This record gives sequence, structure tokens and C-alpha cells, in this order.
Amino acid sequence: MTFDLPVLPFTYDALEPVISQEAVKTHFEKHHLGYAAKLNKLMEGSATAKVSLENLIKTSSGSILNNAAQIWNHNFYWDCLTKLGKTSISMNLHAALSEEFGSFETFRERFTSAASELFGSGWVWLVADDTGKLQIESMPNANCPLEYGKRPLLVVDVWEHAYYLDYQSERLSYLKSWWTIVNWDFVGKQFSKIN
Ligand code: MN
Repeated sequence: MTFDLPVLPFTYDALEPVISQEAVKTHFEKHHLGYAAKLNKLMEGSATAKVSLENLIKTSSGSILNNAAQIWNHNFYWDCLTKLGKTSISMNLHAALSEEFGSFETFRERFTSAASELFGSGWVWLVADDTGKLQIESMPNANCPLEYGKRPLLVVDVWEHAYYLDYQSERLSYLKSWWTIVNWDFVGKQFSKIN
């Protein structure tokens, strides 16, 4: 073992009815833990006893980078979600998004469009650049903002495995429902770190 195994921050049924228990279980056990198993295999025989995912993402390439980034991205994705209607956006983050995008609704529309239009598999992020400017970033496959020195606040997984069991090919339906389970407390904590 060279890195910490992922832990789901809630029970499998926590996101019902937006994301079913079966979908969360499959996503976590088969995909998220699957990347962890692959990374462990790739790291077998490595001289380093213990390494952080962040460090691997910043210093590796190829399969090690892809699997480390997928583990980290999924950790962040689960942290961005919570029970339906449990949290609401803080006033200061709402104000910052309104200032950057014109209004909070415009931010949500642009984020949803980016996630809907990302071709193939990937992730859509709300990030801050090194000046603290808030940006929406579409990243294909296993790309991760840490590779580019961006600080993530929020992410949605648009790989088909994230929504197919519940929404089949209707990615936009998944996205519209997904907003109702965003963990604004977690997103707000990420925002407070960039200021
Ligand atoms: Mn996924």
C-alpha cells in the first residue's frame, strides 16, 4: 500500500432519489476503488513506502498519473455531494459567482452547458486560478486541476458511469438533478481557502 484507499463520505443510499443506491455503490466500488486497485498494481515494487495522491499527480505521467488523478477527482466529487436539500450556498460565494459570471443563475447555466457539451468522458470544474479568479473548466478523461496549478471548488463527473444506471443517455437530466445534492458547505470551504 502506497497511498490511502478512498473512503465514501456517506452511505450508499445518501443521494437517493437523485442518484440511486445501486449507482453510488457501482460507481464507488467498481470505478473509484477500481482505479485504486490499478494504481496499487502500478506502484508495486516502488521504492517509496508512502506517497500522496497530490504528489503523484504533480510528478507522474501516463497510467500512474491517470489512475492517481481519477482517484483524487472521485474523492473530490463525493465530497461535493450530500443529501438532497441539506445545504445552501453561502452569501459570500453567491456574491463572488454573481460578480464573475453576471449572476448565480448564469454561472449555473454555463456550468451545466459545459458539462452537457463536454465530448466523451471527463469532468467539469469550478476552479480558481492563481489570482483567485473563478473559472469553469472542462477537462477530458482523467485531467485534474492540480496538474495545472488551479484550485478546485466544485466538480461534476460526466463519465457515463456516473449517470447511466439512473439516467441512461440523458446526461442533461442527471446534471439538472445533480444541482440539488451539491454540498455547498464543502464548496464554501474550498472557496474560503483561496482568499
Ligand atoms: Mn466516475
